[in-house]
Amino acid sequence: MLEGKTAVVTGSTSGIGLGVANALASQGACVMLNGFGDAQEIEALREGLSRLSGADAAYHPADMSKPQEIARLIEETGKRLGKVDILVNNAGIQHVSPVENFPATMWDQILAINLSSSFHTIRAALPGMKKRGWGRIINIASAHGLVASANKAAYVAAKHGLVGLTKTVALETAATGVTCNAICPGWVLTPLVQKQIDALAARERMTVEEAKMKLLAEKQPSHDFATPEQIGGIAVFLCSDAAAQMRGSSLSVDGGWTAQ
Ligand code: NAD
Repeated sequence: MLEGKTAVVTGSTSGIGLGVANALASQGACVMLNGFGDAQEIEALREGLSRLSGADAAYHPADMSKPQEIARLIEETGKRLGKVDILVNNAGIQHVSPVENFPATMWDQILAINLSSSFHTIRAALPGMKKRGWGRIINIASAHGLVASANKAAYVAAKHGLVGLTKTVALETAATGVTCNAICPGWVLTPLVQKQIDALAARERMTVEEAKMKLLAEKQPSHDFATPEQIGGIAVFLCSDAAAQMRGSSLSVDGGWTAQ
């Protein structure tokens, strides 16, 4: 379905971003990987994606907290892979702390990576999409883009902001072949969540397995994690013709979290 299309997936060396990159590649898309990690492991991921798609795959190490590096990521994708048809804004970090103790530097980092980076990628990639008359912008927001939890001030503010940015870009592109939507996952078992599970287990002196169950029971009525592969499947759907008139939507994939 995506043969001939090129996708940039930010923060795709791990977790949800990698799941999305694999899903797009399995439909034939060229993928530009981005994110941090061991150089050899990243090269193995890149090779794997290229094998999966039967097309090119590349990697760019842009730090998504740095606007100039973000501009270079989009520019380099154009040079190395031809264009950007699909932009998946996924890179994100978390920090958990009551607001009065929340380190100001962490606030700035989270806002930069989880929100502002999407502004910078979108403004760089959108002109080419409009010119070619087709594009898909997919923002990986969160259940925390729709509802809040205590101790996640920066993350909740950034994800609510990302849902707002999604709607604005969708309106500005409404009469074009470019769509912009958000996916709002609940708990997905990735390194970002594993850190929170490990912290909970240490804090409450429970096993990691008990901490997992407690985390799910608090928020996610299905008592089960969503998977990176499932989020990848939703991204592929958003790239399909069936989704051409989905504009500014926030798709919850959260085991019922926000239905409560
Ligand atoms: P993860 O920690 O597994 O992956 C994060 C990715 O972002 C990695 O590839 C990492 O290298 C990259 N990254 C981090 N900082 C970066 C930076 N400054 N520049 C470039 N890349 C950077 O996390 P994940 O759980 O897969 O999260 C991916 C996205 O999904 C995030 O935006 C997160 O907020 C969102 N999300 C996750 C969950 C969940 O339960 N895991 C739920 C809802 C939303």
